[in-house]
Formats: sequence, C-alpha cells, structure tokens
Amino acid sequence: MLLNFYPGPSKIYPEVRQYLTDAYDGGVINIPHRSETFMQLMRATVNSLKKKLNIPHDYYIFFTSSATECWEIIAQSFTFSQSFHLYNGSFGQKWFEYAQKICSETQAHEFPLEELIDTANLEIPEDAEVVCITQNETSNGTQINANTILSLYNKCKDQLLAVDATSSMAGLNLKYIKADIWFASVQKCFGLPPGMAVMVCSPRALYRAKKLDEKNHYNSVVLLYEKMLNYQTSYTPNTLNLYLMYRVLEQRELIKTIDQQLVQRAQNLYDFFEPFTQFRPLITNPEVRSNTVITLHGHHKLVEDIKKNAAANNIQLGNGYGKWARDTFRIANFPANTDTEFEILKDFFSRNYN
Ligand SMILES: *Cc1c(COP(=O)(O)O)cnc(C)c1O
Repeated sequence: MLLNFYPGPSKIYPEVRQYLTDAYDGGVINIPHRSETFMQLMRATVNSLKKKLNIPHDYYIFFTSSATECWEIIAQSFTFSQSFHLYNGSFGQKWFEYAQKICSETQAHEFPLEELIDTANLEIPEDAEVVCITQNETSNGTQINANTILSLYNKCKDQLLAVDATSSMAGLNLKYIKADIWFASVQKCFGLPPGMAVMVCSPRALYRAKKLDEKNHYNSVVLLYEKMLNYQTSYTPNTLNLYLMYRVLEQRELIKTIDQQLVQRAQNLYDFFEPFTQFRPLITNPEVRSNTVITLHGHHKLVEDIKKNAAANNIQLGNGYGKWARDTFRIANFPANTDTEFEILKDFFSRNYN
C-alpha cells in the first residue's frame, strides 16, 4: 500500500471506496439535478457542512468546480473595479494574477515569508472592494493565523475579506464569522476526489453581490444564490462528489476535534524534524508555520534522493512548488492521513537520514 502524503490531490478517505459502490448501487450517480432526491441530498450536505465545520447558520454555501474558479467568481461577482491581494507564495500570487486579468486595477502587496502581515501599518487601497488572503499557502507551508485574520477583518470597513482556505478548510477550525468569503476545493483536507469546491459567504457578502447584480457567468453568485434557494445549481453538478462529501462528512468528527488532532500532530512533526541537520523546515517562525502542509528544505540533490528513496519504500512525498520546486519537499498533514502512517513516515526518516 502506497502511503500518500501529497498535499493535493491528497489521500482520499478509504471509506470512499464503499461510498462509490453505494452511489452506483443506489442510483445516486445520475439522479436528475431538478429532482426531489437531489434537493434532499443538497440540503443534507449543506446542513452537514455547517454542523461539522462550524459554519454560522446564516452563512451561504455554494458549490463550484475548483478553487481556481472561486478566484474568478470573486473577481466577477464581488468586485466592480478592484481587489487587493496580500500574498507570500505561488497560490496567492496566482489568485492576484487571475483577478488582475478580470479587474485590471487590482493591486497586491507581497509580504516576507517568515513574517506576520503587519496589519497595523497596512494601507488598503481606498478603491479596493475585496481584500484577498490565502489562509494556508500550500506552496511554501506558511499560514495566516486567526489573530491576523481578525485584525485584518477589523481593518476592512467597507471591503469584503476573502480567504482562500483550500488546504485548511475541513482541517482547521476556521473562524468563519471573521471573514466574508471562504473557499476550498475538496481534494485536500476534505479527503475527496478532485473536481468540486465549496464557497462560504457571509450575509454581508451576499448583500454586496446582490447590489452588484452581476449575472454574466453561469456561476455568478446571484445565480448560484437563486438556484440554491431550492437546493439546486445552475448547471448539471458533480452529484457523485456531492454524495461522497455527504457520506464523508457523516463519518467525520466535529472540526474542533479534528483541528486539535492536526495541530498537535503538526507540532509533533516539527519537533521530530528539529534534530535533522541535512534538511530543516523551510519556515522557522512558529507563528506563521503551517499546521497542514509541512515544508522541508534542503540541497536539491538530497531532496531528490529523499523523494526517490521514500517512493521505493511506498511513501509518496509532495514535490516542492513554484520557486521552491527543487529544494523543498512537502508533507500533507490532512485529516485522512492516519497517525499510524506518520509513525511509518518518521521511522523512514530516522532509519535513513538521522
Ligand atoms: C490547491 C490550491 C488551489 C487550487 O485548487 P484547484 O482545485 O486546482 O483550483 C488554490 N489555492 C490553494 C491555496 C491551493 O492549495
């Protein structure tokens, strides 16, 4: 059995194998998306998401095809002239570039890898309508902590705060109430196959979308909203993944518990890697270090060797990403990865690289 520590597409819950069979046998795969059965499934999934992920009752949930699509939707449905992006890595930067293609006035501020965002001295451009951050930067293993998000939110008087939480939603107990738009695709902490994303919107965000009333795209937020009133979608959706999400959420513990386990395991992993000398965590500041994606840095030849050697031992490590592609490797600390798997992983490193 291959142990998969890739940070996306990542390990899928093994129970999904049975749920796939159930979906086929129960005829769920091809139920018409205007049917009562579909609407029941959608309603149950939305309720489960709110309950299991601790999402406020008055927030809205929409389904899209990917996190990348959510980047576009935010630029189309929540932004009239420009958004403002804070980033320190590849995903945040890509989001900025996508948004800029749609709203050319869009601006960005890049902040240093080891530092917290200096919210006190931050100048948000006056014309910006949405402030965009990446809670967990999957490319380099940094994260923006809850306090920083809170002080950013307090600073956003007229702006909506939008958070890419692709590699942390369903892993960490995010404070949804402290931002307006949150989104994630499901092939990371949800432990599901790729091809779907969840978008969570505050009442304030929806109010703003209604005011803009942008309806030029099949997944424009007002259209998503109008269809969702009846637990439907504007187009034939990924019913299979929706069903899998419903089943996986049913089996999962509350996010508070999952968060505690992940944070503790992250701490344990950082402690474990501390004594290794040939490679070390890319991020040393514990205040900005990711809990869900552990990024380790070393000479590119060694990194190559570690990944090959691991693969020969049936352990799949994540490649580096973007400008860190060659001299880092990444380890997903996602809910579907078990403690037993991490014991095997640690054993591999102790035997070969200590
Ligand atoms: C993986 C990832 C994305 C891209 O997700 P897609 O489903 O491929 O669109 C965006 N942002 C972050 C932070 C990611 O980790």
